[in-house]
Amino acid sequence: MQTPPPGRPLLQVVACAALAAGCAHLAAVTPEPIGAAPLARAAANAGWPDAPELPNRAEVCAGQLMIHADFPLAEQHRMVRDLETLRGDVSQRLGLPISDEPVHLYLFENQDRYERFTGRYFPGFPVRRAFFIETDTRLAVFAPWQDRIAEDLRHETTHGYVHAVVPGVPLWLDEGIAEYFELPRVAQGRHADHIAHLTGRLIEGTWRIDIDRLESLRLAGELSQDHYAEAWCWVHWLLHTTPERRKILQEYLADVRRDEKTAPLSARLAHAEGGLVACHAAVRAHVESLAAR
Ligand SMILES: [Zn+2]
Repeated sequence: MQTPPPGRPLLQVVACAALAAGCAHLAAVTPEPIGAAPLARAAANAGWPDAPELPNRAEVCAGQLMIHADFPLAEQHRMVRDLETLRGDVSQRLGLPISDEPVHLYLFENQDRYERFTGRYFPGFPVRRAFFIETDTRLAVFAPWQDRIAEDLRHETTHGYVHAVVPGVPLWLDEGIAEYFELPRVAQGRHADHIAHLTGRLIEGTWRIDIDRLESLRLAGELSQDHYAEAWCWVHWLLHTTPERRKILQEYLADVRRDEKTAPLSARLAHAEGGLVACHAAVRAHVESLAAR
């Protein structure tokens, strides 16, 4: 394994903890925020890399991915090829280099096996359909085989690909990017559930676009479905409206890769768009234009 990039935390969990319908990554509502302390305790209990309960009946190497499964999995399985293609898509869209650092995918044959494993090695974690963790030595995804496995793995594996090169990516942007890439390739990042959700909230007057609020989020458990949807929307707007905006996102990620304390995306956008008020209005107009198509 390569030496982790500078600044990699000892443990970082991307909780994917959206609570309401429409988010794919949490199986049950978690009433309490997922804080840093519970996650740290979960890590201390781990020893999970050597756990005998880890899926180990089949192993498939696919580019950067090391897939460990409870069941036979062909290298040419469509889902495996899909995840391999995703690596290039993430790199190309975000202007990020490709890393060779392995991302381990642990696929459990059923929910019961998965829950017993996570309950033992990640106690205190909320029950969720799949999750990604980053330690000082390993990037890993855990998921049970179920109907939405392809979507869940695209989401979690995107976290792996991004964290392999930009471990300091801000939480909200990390989720916005993963929401963008969780869709089948043909969707081109157009997330119908998020468009419908945001449109409804904006019409109700119960939500306003606010990048400062997103940037203030520090704990995965703080993210609601509104945050996930808005984070996705910013990423879609940056990637699909003008080459200049796409470049701002790419340069920001490149800068975060070098120095996590670089100027935030909001400051860069305020400068480029003539202020954040204009910027927020443009993102809102983008949602409305997507909904009208
Ligand atoms: Zn996520």
